[in-house]
Amino acid sequence: MEQTIIDKLYEIVSKNRIFTSKADLYAYGFDASIHHAMPSIVVKPKSSKEVEEIVKLANEYSVPIVARGAGTALCGQAVPIYGGILLDMTGMNKIKEIRIEDLYCIVEPGVIYAKLNERLAEHGFFFPPTPGSGDVCTIGGMIAVNASGMRAIKYGATRDYVLGMEIVFPYGKVRFGSRTLKNSSGYQIERLIVGSEGTLGIITEATLRISPLPEKRAVALASFNDVVKAGEGVAAIIAGGMLPSALEIMDKVCIEAVKKAMDIDLPDAEALLLIEVDGKAMEVKEGIKKIAKILEEKADKIEFTDDEERMAELWKGRKGVLPSLSRYGEDMVSVSLADDMSVPISKIPYAIKEFQNIARKYGIIVGTYGHAGDGNLHTKVLINPNDEKNWKKAEQAVDEIYKVVYELGGIASGEHGIGITKAPWINGDIATMEKIKKAIDPKNIMNPGKMMQWKKGIIAYLRYK
Ligand SMILES: Cc1cc2nc3c(=O)[nH]c(=O)nc-3n(C[C@H](O)[C@H](O)[C@H](O)COP(=O)(O)OP(=O)(O)OC[C@H]3O[C@@H](n4cnc5c(N)ncnc54)[C@H](O)[C@@H]3O)c2cc1C
Repeated sequence: MEQTIIDKLYEIVSKNRIFTSKADLYAYGFDASIHHAMPSIVVKPKSSKEVEEIVKLANEYSVPIVARGAGTALCGQAVPIYGGILLDMTGMNKIKEIRIEDLYCIVEPGVIYAKLNERLAEHGFFFPPTPGSGDVCTIGGMIAVNASGMRAIKYGATRDYVLGMEIVFPYGKVRFGSRTLKNSSGYQIERLIVGSEGTLGIITEATLRISPLPEKRAVALASFNDVVKAGEGVAAIIAGGMLPSALEIMDKVCIEAVKKAMDIDLPDAEALLLIEVDGKAMEVKEGIKKIAKILEEKADKIEFTDDEERMAELWKGRKGVLPSLSRYGEDMVSVSLADDMSVPISKIPYAIKEFQNIARKYGIIVGTYGHAGDGNLHTKVLINPNDEKNWKKAEQAVDEIYKVVYELGGIASGEHGIGITKAPWINGDIATMEKIKKAIDPKNIMNPGKMMQWKKGIIAYLRYK
């Protein structure tokens, strides 16, 4: 990077918030995906004014600029593949306003999801999307990827809570949306930014809708001797008119991985469904009863609990699937490939069976789990990443997995986004996306090369040797 740009960055941001050492650049080159690439410089802004000046500078000199929250993205979204400026947004972490009576809060993008919910809980409220990475991921990252999670079936995704936004585009700082719950006042540009993965602008403030915390929660843990039966159970619960607050599936590989890595008490089974019902105490009691009835014939065993400790243990196990998979076998790690496709809910049993067939065909292990209640499945491929042959096999298997997903009427990503790893399977009209990108970012400085711009294979910029 030209020295003039570096000098100008030091004029905008104090020097203790600029990182240039090889060690720092190396560390900032990762997110939670299989990819890695080093930025030329890392800058940690403290205010939207600083962001505005940095983006203006980057635009003037046509330097790539990539925003980074907690770096938990799973598809390479936060990896600066063309170098340039990496903006560490965690320095902008103020909760600016909480307006309970108006049902919104205003936050800076670096606020951590769990921290926001700690503050909201003091008022009996919460920001519901619940990603598995919620203890560390940032609101900016959630908006940029449209994150959601276990409770999306009932509460929706981040998209459903974004009321307004301040964003810095290459041509300057702008505001969209409102503080009101309803808004039919023209283009909803704030919605366009949701899922844009930092390719249009840098979010510097967000106005988010909030919800009252439910009075009570209870959980049912159902075990099955056949994963197809578990999938049928999911469809039966939905068709039975139930709207649980979570409806999660784990296959045998995932159950074994969690038991091995985490010392969590789970039954041995081919598949588990973890179902949560929330609401008023009476509603929860009725809901659990109804679920028991629906699953009576399909499940081998059902455990019910409203004990806070046991529920926390079960959720810890579910959230721990992803890291646990990397401890499943010797020399194997779980790699995020084909990791969060969505299919119509009724197609889940068939999809899981097909994924297992594909894994067998290529002699690899695939763990499947996810938010079955809204059709969002996670498949993690377990391989020894240091053996090149494995990557070839994984790539072919992933391609077949997506063929199945599309045949079933599904999409590439339900919540983790596109980045690099899912770019070949992106949905929607690419030409329109390119036009929007060009109109807002004509010099292509904002997180370039990602999503519809990624034209190569997915086994690229690997973090492994
Ligand atoms: C263990 C684990 C569990 C996970 N579980 C879930 C889950 O249940 N549901 C789910 O949806 N995801 C999940 N994820 C994926 C990931 O955590 C989410 O996508 C999360 O929202 C990313 O937030 P982040 O702060 O880490 O963003 P980063 O990874 O830092 O960035 C993600 C994207 O957002 C952009 N970005 C970040 N901040 C800004 C900003 N201020 N302005 C513009 N663009 C910005 C980046 O450029 C990048 O494109 C999981 C990841 C892990 C590792």
